[in-house]
Amino acid sequence: MSRPPLLLTSIIIVSVLFCCSKSSEDATITPATTDTMVPDVYKKLYGATSITSDGTYITIKSTGMPDHKSVYYATSNSLYENFNGKTFGGYTFAKNPNAIATQSLTVKIPLNPTVAANHTATPLGPIGVALNGVAIFNQYAGPNQPLTNEVTSFDQYWGHPQQTGQYHYHVEPLYLTTVKASKSALLGFLLDGFPVYGPQENNATVTNAMLDAYHGHTSATPDYPNGIYHYHITDADPYINGNGFYGTAGTVSR
Ligand SMILES: [Zn+2]
Ligand SMILES: [Zn+2]
Repeated sequence: MSRPPLLLTSIIIVSVLFCCSKSSEDATITPATTDTMVPDVYKKLYGATSITSDGTYITIKSTGMPDHKSVYYATSNSLYENFNGKTFGGYTFAKNPNAIATQSLTVKIPLNPTVAANHTATPLGPIGVALNGVAIFNQYAGPNQPLTNEVTSFDQYWGHPQQTGQYHYHVEPLYLTTVKASKSALLGFLLDGFPVYGPQENNATVTNAMLDAYHGHTSATPDYPNGIYHYHITDADPYINGNGFYGTAGTVSR
């Protein structure tokens, strides 16, 4: 019999436990990573591949691929779904020649958005990002060209890809307002860091007349109980943004 005495065994076990609990305590006081500076509201951007903060800007990365079915996916893709019939605005759907392709969308927006002294026009291309990581575009098809001829190519969730395969929404992202979130929910952020909400608020439809020239207003929202300037998506032109950014825009690359 060469068993160690019971007391010695107990001391060893206690020492090991103490050692381990001590080291896990140390782990909790290691320097904070950038992720801990990302406020909870950005976690609603479920389609992002990463969300980080440097304390001044929030950087959101995404592949820009919709998480819903679309006729613009390759027929071999499980998210492909045939679509015909009526689309946004009651128009008869007419598919454009483009196909959805993976993007490297990087959107850098102010962590604490503020009103700009000079309101800059929104660029063509991405002006913001939706909760599912899809790009939000403005109300134009090209320089000073209204969307008139583009809306017929919106798929069943009211988005479509452009020539490089970047899928985007110019109007209400129907998958978010009807499946993933709701008509009154937070739907994304524009480049100036201000949030974008759906076409309803307090159980009423938001109209353009209720909004300012930039297509927003200031009030409390469920995500910002102390009040914040926010855009609303409406069912009439300019849909998401009016005369440019309310705040100072960050940057976007793709
Ligand atoms: Zn478009
Ligand atoms: Zn509102």
